[in-house]
Amino acid sequence: MSLVACLAALTLSSCGRFAGPRTAFDGNAAYAMVGTQVGFGPRVPGSVGWQKTGDWIVATLKQLGDSVTEQRWMHVTPKGDTVPMRNIIAHIAPADAQRVLYVTHWDTRPTADNDPVIGNRTKPIPGANDGASGVALLLQVAAALRKTPPTVGVDLLFVDGEDYGDFTNYSDTTSNPDVLIGSTYYARHMSKDSLPLYGVLWDMIGDKDLDIYQEGNSVADAPEVVSLVWKTAKDLGYSKYFIPQTGETLIDDHVPFLDNGLHMIDVIDYDYGPKTAQYPEGWHHTMQDTPDKVSAQSLQIVGDVAVKLVTGK
Ligand SMILES: [Zn+2]
Repeated sequence: MSLVACLAALTLSSCGRFAGPRTAFDGNAAYAMVGTQVGFGPRVPGSVGWQKTGDWIVATLKQLGDSVTEQRWMHVTPKGDTVPMRNIIAHIAPADAQRVLYVTHWDTRPTADNDPVIGNRTKPIPGANDGASGVALLLQVAAALRKTPPTVGVDLLFVDGEDYGDFTNYSDTTSNPDVLIGSTYYARHMSKDSLPLYGVLWDMIGDKDLDIYQEGNSVADAPEVVSLVWKTAKDLGYSKYFIPQTGETLIDDHVPFLDNGLHMIDVIDYDYGPKTAQYPEGWHHTMQDTPDKVSAQSLQIVGDVAVKLVTGK
């Protein structure tokens, strides 16, 4: 096919390029929201950037007309630090008894532990992918669901304190972790009598080089949700990005929910950036986690899956 024919056909997939969008989700608007958040500064709990971003998330949701609630509390870390915490929840179609819970963390890591420059390791990460991408995704899901109403009620939960402390301190949800703080708090306070049908955590889904494998704890504890999400991606023609194979097993915000009886899976592209001698973990938890490593196309792909899952279209 010639280039002219390619452009005329507008089916870019036949030219080896991306053919989206396929739902009401707007990947370009999501990408702009990644920049907005990074522009606020690091979203470390208690910081100025955190305050501004939390207020902006609430204002953005309210502007869409969604009902918004918050959980605020003080968290005491194992070291004895007191940290303010804020979970934000948007309730879409609040009267619907049948609900699906979408989760993302909105805080960013206070320390760039994987950065090759030792002086950077005590600095907070920009968090374009690890933080901002998931928030942008859920805010644009909220916007898309205004255009295409869901067939179930949807709660969008923005959890705080996912990345605050040391993951090696995490053993289970009763161990007073200084990570997964907001998800642990929310999961513990959920009414066990009216659990959502299922949950999906969206984390680090903006990587330009998108390849999402099925996360190990999700496959073990909520296999039917994994099947549902990967089938939805397949129906959209996205099997190249949602790869139907098991990948890493991760401690992430889905774990406190699984421990509290809700079948929640982790949709995560943990493989972020090329792994080199200098960057053995890629861009993850380094100062390189900046908007140029994220793309509107990746956000579009994941956003299409998130929207189709609860709308059927
Ligand atoms: Zn992280």
